[in-house]
Amino acid sequence: MKEIGKVRTIEEYSPPFVWTGHPFTDAGLVALLLLSGKGKPDELTEKDVENAVEFASKLYARKEWSYGYIHAMMLPNSGILMANPSMSKKRTPEEIKKNLLTLLSEEEDPNAPVCEICGRKHSRLKPVYRSDFPLVGTGGVPNYFPSGRDGANICSHCLFLAQMMPLAAYRLSRVLIIHAYPYELMLEFHKEAIDDVKKSELASVARDFKRPENFLFKKLGEIGRKLEAGKLSGASITLYYFVNNNQGQEIDVIYIPNPILRFVALASQYDSAGWARIVSMGWNRGCAKRLAKKPEEIEKSCQNDVYHRLLDGESVLHYFIDPHSRRTNSSWRLLSFYCSEVLGLDENALEFVKRVADRIVETVEKLPDNKLSRRIRELERAEKLYQFEGFFIRIEKDRQELGIPGALMSFDDFARILTNYGEDLNVSWKTVKNLLLFRIYEKLHDRLMKASPEEAEEEEVEEEFEEGEE
Ligand SMILES: [Zn+2]
Repeated sequence: MKEIGKVRTIEEYSPPFVWTGHPFTDAGLVALLLLSGKGKPDELTEKDVENAVEFASKLYARKEWSYGYIHAMMLPNSGILMANPSMSKKRTPEEIKKNLLTLLSEEEDPNAPVCEICGRKHSRLKPVYRSDFPLVGTGGVPNYFPSGRDGANICSHCLFLAQMMPLAAYRLSRVLIIHAYPYELMLEFHKEAIDDVKKSELASVARDFKRPENFLFKKLGEIGRKLEAGKLSGASITLYYFVNNNQGQEIDVIYIPNPILRFVALASQYDSAGWARIVSMGWNRGCAKRLAKKPEEIEKSCQNDVYHRLLDGESVLHYFIDPHSRRTNSSWRLLSFYCSEVLGLDENALEFVKRVADRIVETVEKLPDNKLSRRIRELERAEKLYQFEGFFIRIEKDRQELGIPGALMSFDDFARILTNYGEDLNVSWKTVKNLLLFRIYEKLHDRLMKASPEEAEEEEVEEEFEEGEE
């Protein structure tokens, strides 16, 4: 049993810092590692920790950090970091440094509950409130703390790490932590923040991005370009986007599942122009229009439907095709990667749809231009299942009229195409519809665009009407 009341020095801190899975302490650890140029917590030396504390204290003593950031967004009235406005006279780098290092040598009470974050040490004797650790209670008014004790059960080491978090965090209109597993990935994602702090001596503003998910997708693409596919197996990311101040405490948690992560990170490796086109179609039109004179602002400020659908687990398949110009927005390779990675279609299923599409092409390409265009329009406009079925029957009739040997497909194939692509029939056939259109546009774009001007005009009128209805 440890001696009670013995003050430990920094040399004695043991065991060293570890990843805990908690975004705030892990972000602090990221700051320690990146500032020390180390990759793993057990590579950190006491000197590294001391240097990082020194670096942090110099910044934290400045008004821009203390009042403008730490007090305003993360740790209101912090005593440890002396961000409490009443402490402004006494605030010096030396005092802050002393407070931080004292945390690492605080005595431990073996009777105190175990730390809820790391589970390795006993929680601090002094109650931990939201001025020291974001998003826990205040202590000033009745608050619910899990063990019925006053304050959160957090040990002094975890508390220390949380004090280092401001260095690694991104400052948007709230604070952004990109918590990633494996942790090497988290280092990648926060390297920019530390580099910015070193350069500007201010918190990183994430290149002025206004939307955390846009910033993440941008970075994910950049990081993905350098990565091998295997590196991301099992990886996941959660964005913690929060504010913790005297006005309120809010947090949005955005989880990016592995398939989405892999797809977005690697899409550019499959077809970078195609992926850029797909993303560009997703921008909120009103916002993109407003920022037309400053196009570089669009990706920072506007909502993107492709991103949101991916995060909400909805299909973005229809973005792979452009029914207005009847062309594909990407290569089949990227489409196939999306289908296997995100939609979970296997290679055989995809090849099967491709074969059916090729037989449709083989049939309709023998039709005159206008008729060909109309026929494909039937497929484009199929919003109900019976309309989709009707399209295949029309093609089958075309085959007979044109004297093309062999049926379009067997009864079994037909049943498979309608039901085999997802449990929800409504999702299932629409997936197939978009895949068919992709292949048809790919093969027949030039001829489809030769459709008569009257037909095109007639369509425009109808489309305007549809938009007006919304
Ligand atoms: Zn702890």
